Amino acid sequence: MAENDSDYNPSRACPLSEVSSWDLETDVIVVGYGASGASAALEAAVEGAEVTLFEVASGSGGTSAMAGGDIYLGGNGGTPAQRENGFEDDTEDFYRYMLMAGGADADEARVRLYADHALEHYVWLKEQGIPYRNSYLPGKVQAPGTGDCLIWSGNEDAWPYNETAKPCPRGHLPEAIGELGGGGRMLVDKLAARVEALGVDIHCDARVLCLVADEAQQVQGVVVRLEGQPRFARARRGVILCAGGFALNEEMVKKYAPVISRLGDDGLSAGHDDGSGIRMGQSVGGAAIHMDEIFTTLPIYPPASHVKGILINEQGQRFVNEDAYPGRVAIHCLRQVGDHIYMLVDDSIFEQPSEFSRIEIAAVGESWSEIESELGLLEGTLTSTISLFNRHAAEGKDPLFHKNPNYIKPLIDPPFAALACHIGQAFYPYFTLGGLSTRPTGEVLTVDAEVVPGLYAAGRTCSGLPRSGEGYSSGMSLGDCTFFGRYAGRAAARRDPASTAR
Ligand SMILES: Cc1cc2nc3c(=O)[nH]c(=O)nc-3n(C[C@H](O)[C@H](O)[C@H](O)COP(=O)(O)OP(=O)(O)OC[C@H]3O[C@@H](n4cnc5c(N)ncnc54)[C@H](O)[C@@H]3O)c2cc1C
Repeated sequence: MAENDSDYNPSRACPLSEVSSWDLETDVIVVGYGASGASAALEAAVEGAEVTLFEVASGSGGTSAMAGGDIYLGGNGGTPAQRENGFEDDTEDFYRYMLMAGGADADEARVRLYADHALEHYVWLKEQGIPYRNSYLPGKVQAPGTGDCLIWSGNEDAWPYNETAKPCPRGHLPEAIGELGGGGRMLVDKLAARVEALGVDIHCDARVLCLVADEAQQVQGVVVRLEGQPRFARARRGVILCAGGFALNEEMVKKYAPVISRLGDDGLSAGHDDGSGIRMGQSVGGAAIHMDEIFTTLPIYPPASHVKGILINEQGQRFVNEDAYPGRVAIHCLRQVGDHIYMLVDDSIFEQPSEFSRIEIAAVGESWSEIESELGLLEGTLTSTISLFNRHAAEGKDPLFHKNPNYIKPLIDPPFAALACHIGQAFYPYFTLGGLSTRPTGEVLTVDAEVVPGLYAAGRTCSGLPRSGEGYSSGMSLGDCTFFGRYAGRAAARRDPASTAR
């Protein structure tokens, strides 16, 4: 038995030589019981492996259970919801979109697999008991909570993405009704029911403290706190880290993603995104990549009419097409000089912003010059921006940022208003996208792209499919967690420990 809890730290692997005997032995150990952990455990068990799962919280869920449950799916001609609503989703369009969304270092192999097999993944999700209607909600919708399925959940129809791939809605929400739909909770519950039915040995209230590795840095197991005591658990085939991201780890945030410190306390987390999974991976040589990338969003809609407004920075300049996915809009807000961001609207499109957005009215006036001076902006900045925009908007055009004509109208109906969308004040929720470098199989890689034997990662513990905040679409995280969680489970279950040398 291990000695003392405080002897163990995720950043330092426990040497195998310190393990006098194992308290527990299994084929595959899964760390974390959110969407990625449940998918990994499920698939490893289906492969016939003996699987043990450790979860620090008292039950399944993690941040996954807080989610709307949107999963980004398509390709191969389309899912039933896409086809039924007249969308034929070509795999190559899906692939090109996903590749562009992944940013400069998109993982081509991962994107290829996902685009080719997302339709099969949809079928798998249904087989696990997750219900999907074939209904479609057009326009700008976020987490409607109506039980409807298909939505535009990314930048598909926004410039510059719409020039790269034929636009198609790909957000798939499960049939769940209520606030945010409760779709994430339903997703995890359905997967967890399967995990339990397959006989996975589940331990909740069980924090994994660190990995156990031999001299060659091959992962042999973990140290886990069980009933208040640290115990040694051996994984004959592999350990899969599915422990979420690091949004709640102040030190890691400061070091890797300091932009988060501008956003306040709106981290999207069930409370355990402390980076322990990433640190465990690093402790045996795993490389952490894209650690500065985050998902954040600025909920400018609902109301959808505000998409017809324009966003300006504190220099009075426009900087993005406002019809882009709010995640992309938010990333562009963060790139401005200064934290003051305004949404300009006229009377014909104004509606009270949603309470949760914390977007407030900063100025109201009968003319745009009145608004400009009320905001204290340099004379001529806001007014020249508006006049340029209105000149082209009158012809349904936006030559600067190529906003979709459906969302263009001249802002000429008084009274006018500026809505404060300031960073540090408005609601910019976030989670981290950076994490361990992995193969699509989940195998953790070193900086030299060598496999760390016996170690796998999935979900937000790794830098997966969604690795650029600018290109993120709703549904990409849970899509990545469930799809590549399965791959990791399968790969770990099939691993022959005798055959892996570094
Ligand atoms: C309000 C909200 C809405 C969202 N909507 C969507 C959406 O519709 N679509 C989408 O794609 N994404 C959405 N997201 C993001 C998405 O939910 C997450 O990115 C995703 O669920 C992360 O899954 P995961 O399996 O990596 O981590 P988690 O689900 O957080 O699972 C990790 C688990 O590991 C456990 N753990 C951590 N450390 C340890 C340890 N040392 N030992 C043992 N256990 C440990 C945690 O307690 C947790 O249960 C949303 C997020 C929120 C909060």
